[in-house]
Amino acid sequence: MNCTNCPRHCFIPLGKSGFCGVRRNMKLDTENVSRIFSIAHGKNTGLAVDPIEKKPLYHFYPNSKTLSLGSIGCNLDCKFCQNFSIAHSVDDSTLIEMPPSAIVDTALRNGCQSIAFTYNEPIIWLEYAIEIAIIAHQAGLFTIAVTNGYISPEVRQKFFDHIDAANVDLKSFSDKFYREYCSAAVEPVKETLCYLAEKNKNQIKFNCNNNSIYRTWLEITTLLIPGLNDSEDEIEKLSEWIFSNLGSEIPLHFSAFRPADRMQSIPPTPSSTLFRSRDIASSKGLKYVYTGNIDDPIGQATFCPQCKQNIISRNRFNVTEYLINEDQCCNYCGQTIAGEFVTDY
Ligand code: SF4
Repeated sequence: MNCTNCPRHCFIPLGKSGFCGVRRNMKLDTENVSRIFSIAHGKNTGLAVDPIEKKPLYHFYPNSKTLSLGSIGCNLDCKFCQNFSIAHSVDDSTLIEMPPSAIVDTALRNGCQSIAFTYNEPIIWLEYAIEIAIIAHQAGLFTIAVTNGYISPEVRQKFFDHIDAANVDLKSFSDKFYREYCSAAVEPVKETLCYLAEKNKNQIKFNCNNNSIYRTWLEITTLLIPGLNDSEDEIEKLSEWIFSNLGSEIPLHFSAFRPADRMQSIPPTPSSTLFRSRDIASSKGLKYVYTGNIDDPIGQATFCPQCKQNIISRNRFNVTEYLINEDQCCNYCGQTIAGEFVTDY
């Protein structure tokens, strides 16, 4: 039997797992036929209340709280994985069993506006994520996916129909990089980005409390690794592709690498690389380009693309100034700012 959740389309014999280690061909005592399911279904690594800026999402309800949860396993094998202990684990014995309703209750009790499927790739535990999302929407919460975007076309809609905002990793613009350092390919990720940009353009409302009309707000993160994916040429190509295929209003976050997993000998990304990349992407027409994982109040502020005034200031994950009016426009010049913003900050 094949799993179709991601482009690997693993063939999985009965009792075995696919590449991600957690989707297994199982036959339950109560069922006659086998099916592929996550061995970690209904379990998570623990819950955390985070500022939404930590995902990072800068244009979707800034300064709100989100309840984060993840599971184990991953459908990529990035040599620089920043969440190695869970992404490469197949041991579900330490996970916490929690029904979707308990997760939603926890989010509500903690004043969260959303629930984020994060830490490891949610597409490998999409059944649990969807069950949580359905109850979350009924309770008036939004849902967020932090994903590598390595998702098969047949599962994209099924998953993102339940997701209000996504941050998708575009780990590099080079297929060679994806093959060499992630055991994957870039094209399916680009297809996911195009799918989401289109969905975002064509729908006007988010799914919260409304199961028929939906939209998924999109932001992109690129982790810059010194010497591997941070050349001026690659940043130019990546930015030009986003501008031409996704539009100028999709926020792009350049994030600093820290030595991790099998890349301990590569130094952290210098701030100058992040500043330079932000400048390049802005010069290619992208309106909202940010730096992450470093202290950089300028690179983490939102500037009005029209009058160039600073309209959202951030200090790490905290919003310290907010100058967007109730029509989602710049307080200074009235320019509409892309995204979904609170009106009563
Ligand atoms: S989700 Fe896992 S089992 Fe399914 S195709 Fe991808 S790697 Fe294979």
